[in-house]
Amino acid sequence: MSKPTTIVWFRRDFRLQDNPAWNHAVETGGDIIPLYIHSPKEDGKWARGGASNWWLHHALADLSEQLDKLGYSLFIHKADKAHEALTKAIKDSQAEAICWNRCYEPASVDRDTKIKKALSEDGFTVETFNGNLLFDPLKIASKSDTPYKVFTPFWKHCAAMDIKQPETAKARKAKDSRSRKLKGDSLDSLALLPDIPWDKEMQAFWDPKRKGGEKLLQEAITKAPGYQDHRDIPAEDATSRLSPYLHFGQISPAEFHAEVLRNCQDKDAAHKGILRQLFWREFSAHLLFHFPHTSDQPLREEYNNFPWKIDPAIVRKWQKGQTGYPIVDAGMRQLWATGWMHNRVRMIVASLLVKHLLQPWQEGAHWFWDTLVDADLPNNTMGWQWTAGSGADASPYFRVFNPIIQGKKFDPEGEYVKRWVPELKNVPAEYIHCPWEMEPLELQSAGITLGKDYPEPIISHEKGRQQALDAYQSFKDSQ
Ligand code: FAD
Repeated sequence: MSKPTTIVWFRRDFRLQDNPAWNHAVETGGDIIPLYIHSPKEDGKWARGGASNWWLHHALADLSEQLDKLGYSLFIHKADKAHEALTKAIKDSQAEAICWNRCYEPASVDRDTKIKKALSEDGFTVETFNGNLLFDPLKIASKSDTPYKVFTPFWKHCAAMDIKQPETAKARKAKDSRSRKLKGDSLDSLALLPDIPWDKEMQAFWDPKRKGGEKLLQEAITKAPGYQDHRDIPAEDATSRLSPYLHFGQISPAEFHAEVLRNCQDKDAAHKGILRQLFWREFSAHLLFHFPHTSDQPLREEYNNFPWKIDPAIVRKWQKGQTGYPIVDAGMRQLWATGWMHNRVRMIVASLLVKHLLQPWQEGAHWFWDTLVDADLPNNTMGWQWTAGSGADASPYFRVFNPIIQGKKFDPEGEYVKRWVPELKNVPAEYIHCPWEMEPLELQSAGITLGKDYPEPIISHEKGRQQALDAYQSFKDSQ
């Protein structure tokens, strides 16, 4: 019997190592057609933003190069609907089978379930795998058979299960793959790179290829023992920075988990520190899978009636890093320049937006979506809903971060602030998080005129805090 030609539909698993769908296709022994379908319209308002598109371009170029070395060509298709593109790809390649690694975001689940059913009914062999998470969300449920809403029991439950181990890479060279002869769309025709070159700092900050991820994974092993003590200091490079590689599947969570655990001397520190964060990633996927509306609406329904005071001018100042709170502005500028922001600072900037400034969390989520290279629907949704107090296991709304105290605690010398807000470089550490407290002469010797070189605070902390608490009280009273 002849061996089937199998299409491997790459979606967000841009690696050939620990890739269950790829491995499956290799094991069948037949020809393989590697396929990528670009159908952003299907993602609606959650179609990738500019920074993610930049990463996607490089990830696809890298995958294409790796496939090329094995004798395959990555077949790229632009389409309004993935199903149409798949049908055409099947016809062009005369493939008999298709496989992919599942994405668990609500829109993907809906679409892929329909595609799988239709293709199976048409007589194709369709196989799907979990390559993007440590645990399939369908297989995790609490004792009461309901989804988890609190992290610690979720983590304990998962930690007691068998954690997915990376599969051995299977790389079979193709002598004469049909993919070589297929004509698809070129990578450039997807127009993923910016027209205006705003990506210079991103290019310097990242190597968006599998090799770049492998290097950071090795560094994560050395960071793991000190992770808990240093992870909240944004001036330090103490976290893995693997989030975009995990999002795009250039490094799998199973590789991350196994590699750190195998090589880190202090396994207990690794478990309680850096590896625990991978379970937050699993938790967010679990939440969005079971509560699919929460990318747009609060998990706690009553928050639909929260009295936000929508003001586009305020949102704009926040986006541009012009709030007058140095730690917030540093974070927003780091985000704009590099497509990434330190986790502690993400919490601080998000809190200022939804509490002091009373802007809906969805505004922040959308800006992050457009500017983060690691923009990830489950993680972003959980991060914003956590801040707004409307999500699972969330920080209560009445707990208002003080951006000055947060700055002094986590960036005491102002090293991070000075890196991203250079106009404050001569401000003494004592005032770096509250330059408005300086005497006029001190401001003068630091070369700052407030309101001209650097903004006055957009709102005083006291007023912002009170405003947030009043809004919360009126919201509670209306329930
Ligand atoms: P490390 O500290 O090295 O952690 C290792 C991995 O664990 C990360 O790469 C990430 O995949 C996962 N992880 C770490 N912290 C979290 C967390 N709090 N929640 C879920 N997973 C976590 N993360 C994204 O990947 N994409 C987003 O779009 C995103 N949006 C966020 C929005 C807000 C408002 C907040 C507060 C957090 C958001 N996060 C998001 C979570 C977190 O900030 C990033 O995952 C982390 O900063 C990535 O840096 P790292 O790779 O160095 O993390």
